[in-house]
Amino acid sequence: MPDRSFLSWPFFEDRHRELAEHLEAWCTTNLPVDHHDVDAACRELVTKLGQDGWLKPTALDTDNPGPLDVRTLCITRETLARHDGLADFAFAMQGLGTGALSLFGTPEQQEWLSRTRAGKAISAFALSEPRSGSDVANTEMTATRDGDSFVLTGEKTWISNGGIADLYVVFARTGEAPGAKGLSAFLVPGDAKGLGIAERLEVIAPHPLARLSFERVRLPATALIGRPGDGFRIAMSVLDVFRSTVGAAALGFARRALDESIKRVAERKLFGAPMAELQMVQGHIADMALDVDAAALLVYRAAWTKDMGAARVTREAAMAKLFATDKAQEVIDKAVQLHGGDGVRKGHIVESLYREIRALRIYEGASDVQKVVIARQVMGAA
Ligand SMILES: Cc1cc2nc3c(=O)[nH]c(=O)nc-3n(C[C@H](O)[C@H](O)[C@H](O)COP(=O)(O)OP(=O)(O)OC[C@H]3O[C@@H](n4cnc5c(N)ncnc54)[C@H](O)[C@@H]3O)c2cc1C
Repeated sequence: MPDRSFLSWPFFEDRHRELAEHLEAWCTTNLPVDHHDVDAACRELVTKLGQDGWLKPTALDTDNPGPLDVRTLCITRETLARHDGLADFAFAMQGLGTGALSLFGTPEQQEWLSRTRAGKAISAFALSEPRSGSDVANTEMTATRDGDSFVLTGEKTWISNGGIADLYVVFARTGEAPGAKGLSAFLVPGDAKGLGIAERLEVIAPHPLARLSFERVRLPATALIGRPGDGFRIAMSVLDVFRSTVGAAALGFARRALDESIKRVAERKLFGAPMAELQMVQGHIADMALDVDAAALLVYRAAWTKDMGAARVTREAAMAKLFATDKAQEVIDKAVQLHGGDGVRKGHIVESLYREIRALRIYEGASDVQKVVIARQVMGAA
């Protein structure tokens, strides 16, 4: 039984505790799904999660508008990640892909949200390019105004849900100013003419991922999200909401690794006694538990701060993401070690956690970038 004591921390309300309990029961019945065909698995997960109402918190409810509840997003990601990394991915992308619409969309653009919240449309967030990942200011894709249209030309890469998404939020250069201040955000339907899948990308923990080509993709002016030149601000506002949730997913992976290790060391006998009696093993378990609790404190501090109405949580979210992802990697590595040969055996849960965690330290701002962000925040505040 995973540790649920954190749910009594003052960051949470009863509705969060109820969510954790109900979602845990749902996960036990429905997860993991078969991952062999990763596109099919993701479609199935989005449909299932949508049908059973779990995707509702990922985007604005246009009938009852209010801010996204980051604690709900974090508890959901943590719980899903503990059961199935792909389920967490499917949930997270419905939020990241539509974040710009929830926060800055017109009523017409927000019509998509009832479909993404119901699992009837899949969304994607397209910011990275072959020559601009961390360096967003270097975005090369252009969006040129042509009468009542914008024409998008260029490439996006590493796009999660690339190839299966029904809508993409795409960031392109409109040129109001040099660098980051000359970008704008656009809503691009997945079937837009000129939008192609240049390459499907395979990574160590498979999920749908692609490099996309935009060959003179013509969009109506109404596809612009927010104002021209606001693209970077929009992207950063979306990441400000969702960055802590990456930490929450890492926390879910780490908790699972800790749970599996506790079980393993109790069951496995070494030198005539359970491994759990070896003090060095106890030392590993203690380190893992400490990192899990510290990560949880940072993740839920960031989520709570945002939910309490903070305009930006740049420092809190960066700390949560950096610490939770880096420490989850260490916790999972210890779990692999404690499992011996089984830990590296294909198909074993700790082997899959070892692969699942790695990309979280790279996307939505690599660990090194989070350090730069934190340093600037604390030095700026001094
Ligand atoms: C599995 C996966 C899913 C992804 N999904 C999406 C998605 O849905 N949408 C999207 O737009 N992008 C997505 N990405 C892209 C991701 O955001 C980029 O990979 C990331 O921003 C890093 O960019 P890069 O790969 O170009 O690496 P680079 O920018 O070349 O950076 C390489 C490394 O340099 C270091 N570094 C970077 N900046 C600094 C700095 N200032 N100081 C010190 N060191 C630094 C970091 O260690 C970094 O990992 C995804 C990536 C992966 C791996």
